[in-house]
Amino acid sequence: MKFNTQLVHGGESVMKSTLPPIVQSSAFTFESAEDQEKVFAHKKMGYAYTRIGNPTITAFESQINAIEGGRGALACSSGMAALSLAFLNICQPGDEIIAGWNLYGGTIELFKDLAHYGITTHFISLNDAAVLESTINAHTKVIFGEMLSNPSLEILDVEKVSSIAHDHGLPLFVDNTAATPYLIQPLKHGADVVIHSSSKYINGTSNAISGVIIDGGRFPWDIAQYPSLQAYGKYKKMAYYMRLRDDLSQNIGACLSPQNAYLNVLGLETLGLRMQRICENALALAKHLESLGVKVNYPALHDPLTALLNGHGGGLLTCDVGDKEKAFQVINRLKLAHIVSNIGDVKTLVVHPASTIAVHNTIKEQERAGVYPGTIRVSVGIEDIEDLKADFDQAIKGE
Ligand SMILES: *Cc1c(COP(=O)(O)O)cnc(C)c1O
Repeated sequence: MKFNTQLVHGGESVMKSTLPPIVQSSAFTFESAEDQEKVFAHKKMGYAYTRIGNPTITAFESQINAIEGGRGALACSSGMAALSLAFLNICQPGDEIIAGWNLYGGTIELFKDLAHYGITTHFISLNDAAVLESTINAHTKVIFGEMLSNPSLEILDVEKVSSIAHDHGLPLFVDNTAATPYLIQPLKHGADVVIHSSSKYINGTSNAISGVIIDGGRFPWDIAQYPSLQAYGKYKKMAYYMRLRDDLSQNIGACLSPQNAYLNVLGLETLGLRMQRICENALALAKHLESLGVKVNYPALHDPLTALLNGHGGGLLTCDVGDKEKAFQVINRLKLAHIVSNIGDVKTLVVHPASTIAVHNTIKEQERAGVYPGTIRVSVGIEDIEDLKADFDQAIKGE
């Protein structure tokens, strides 16, 4: 099946309803005590308790797993929960993570939290092979980057970085939130684990917070190197996923609600259509802003790595209108575009990163992330492009 066919047919349920039922129940009954024993011993497939599993959550997990080309997915209560679990599943005190320095602010904060548990993160430019090679050491456990960074909009050279990681016996984890599987399925380009804030493009209409981890099931986990996976060694390349699913996620308890899983199934069905329109609009708006003399950063305008993204640039762009005062003026004059720090909606959203999402970062961190006093980030929606152009026209020209 091709992309859009798989999207709309991936969430169908065993009950033959066209959408999975919302099983809004915390717990499940059993025919007999023997039956219950079998399910708890993993000798029979079945549901016991929604923190551990639920049919609506399974429907979303199967749908996203198929579309990313994974071998197992785990849905979580938020993107941050997914990221936390993804690293905690294999890291312990003394371990080191190597991450891109252009990460989502919340993820940088998470890595600062992990430092209190003895897990150190090095922030580097991952696409710089020499720097990456020289940062890897005996304590390194995982390399992590965002496929399309936000708001610097740099594309991870996933094939090059994964091959360096694998040469050193390390897995590459990729946050695919901003790129989405419409632009790229990183597992097919060498990544080992993909993480999403599904609150964004996957959900699509900003109606539920959620996250998901998808394991490609191809990394040969060495139990001596990853002691937390010890009890799961028998699962070989599925050791990471099995420990995540049967152990850590149940104990941390950051499960997705069935209602939100259902909303994600609905959203995911139209991901292809939405992204197609969003990418068209974003490219047209980027060109239009350039024609007005505004400095624009949109990957499809200049980055050869967009070849990895089927030539698309995604739904985010940034523009620099000079200084903070001018940026605030433009933002305040926009009538269609909403002032929102979120991304991935069908509506166009704008934010002034320097005073909001990047306000806790140093000037140097902001500059690395492409954030200057005059920068505005636009998460382009599916509106008619002529209306969007007109809205930005009047906001920039101040007429
Ligand atoms: C939003 C976002 C997150 C965090 O996800 P939540 O669902 O808000 O917890 C992580 N990474 C990226 C790239 C994001 O955009």
